Amino acid sequence: MAQLSDDCFAFGGPMMSVDEAVGLIAARVGKVAEIETVALAEADGRILAHDVAAPLPLPPFTNSAVDGYAIASRDLPKGEDEAFPVLGRVQAGASPDDAIKSRHAVRIFTGAPMPAGADTVFMQEDVRLEDGKVVLPAGLKPGANVRPAGEDIPLGHAALKAGQRLRPQDVALIAAFGLTHVVVVRRIRVAVFSTGNELVSPGEARGAPQLFDSNRFMLIAMLRRLGCDVSDLGIFRDETASLAKALKQVAGSHDLLLTTGGVSTGEEDHVKAAVESAGSLVLWRIAIKPGRPVAMGIIGGTPFIGLPGNPVASFVTFVHVVRPTILALSGARQEKLTPMPVRAAFSYRKKIARREYVRVTLRKGADGAVEAIKFPREGAGLLSSLADTDGLAELSEDVTQVSPGETIGFLSWASLTN
Ligand code: AMP
Ligand code: MG
Repeated sequence: MAQLSDDCFAFGGPMMSVDEAVGLIAARVGKVAEIETVALAEADGRILAHDVAAPLPLPPFTNSAVDGYAIASRDLPKGEDEAFPVLGRVQAGASPDDAIKSRHAVRIFTGAPMPAGADTVFMQEDVRLEDGKVVLPAGLKPGANVRPAGEDIPLGHAALKAGQRLRPQDVALIAAFGLTHVVVVRRIRVAVFSTGNELVSPGEARGAPQLFDSNRFMLIAMLRRLGCDVSDLGIFRDETASLAKALKQVAGSHDLLLTTGGVSTGEEDHVKAAVESAGSLVLWRIAIKPGRPVAMGIIGGTPFIGLPGNPVASFVTFVHVVRPTILALSGARQEKLTPMPVRAAFSYRKKIARREYVRVTLRKGADGAVEAIKFPREGAGLLSSLADTDGLAELSEDVTQVSPGETIGFLSWASLTN
């Protein structure tokens, strides 16, 4: 487990910017040390523990990029077409019998090794066969249609870096190196609780003033997408003692404790009191909308994060506080979310000095450009505003007004839950 000090989340100012919050997390949350070896087929999404240097060049041998005819470039036709006798044939997976003969061509196929002395390949579409010879046109450059050994990745190059999250294309690279296994950081263990007397789990009987707990399932899904090992601890009532006891109990076996609900300032918000009794707590007031104070704490050396209960606030604060924490715990790079420029098709006013996220849907404008339309309602409790939109428009701290036609930054749900 990452052992953190009680005051590690202490923060001086009354409000912190989103960037300050991410910076603080990256600086203060320690990396989990344990690593494990996984088979290639299980490697997607895992965090690489060590650099991987190329144990062989890619491609491993010089080969033809096309189906065609190989020759030595010193024999390239100059000025007009020339006919060459064809001597030899190399298929992918075969070794050439001989070095190429002067003023001869070799029939060759994509991926087949180049015969010694041959360094240029004519595509079969560009030649014709006449009287048993191949007629090659003039004008091809020496080295055309050949893939030299190591042109993709040279031998010994650190092709993959410790801390990177493996994607399908990275797994392909490791496989191309002939490696069967890879060393990754072990999965981050997260315990998740919902809090609120009004909540019941799907499948349970719901009383008239109750609602089904949706946040817990959203958070678990988001955590799993980040590669976490999640313990679902269910729903806790708005009651300090039982929640404190549960948090204390599971702190030692988890890297992160995550709750939703109960962190506002009402007297029925018991999460704060529970964390204060089980460990230490600070409230982070992040200059972000939607989002309310996020509770940050330490229980027995294990970080605690209490997210607000409103689903939209819960989602947005997850992205800006929980995601960076998971990345820090796994020693992963803090992959910055890069908003894509789109055209606003709405007007909006906002307060200066806080970052706002507006739920938007994309469409193609009359001129073909991508436009963002704002979800018509504002409420932080509207699940439809998450489900029926394409993502969030990010309005930075210095913006006070958005007018139709302006360029704004868009973050897709896919990028935010990755
Ligand atoms: P709270 O943060 O506990 O004050 O809750 C704020 C709002 O979010 C209330 O309307 C709650 O009913 C709602 N809420 C809290 N937790 C959940 C949850 N796990 N799933 C869905 N809604 C919730
Ligand atoms: Mg509540």
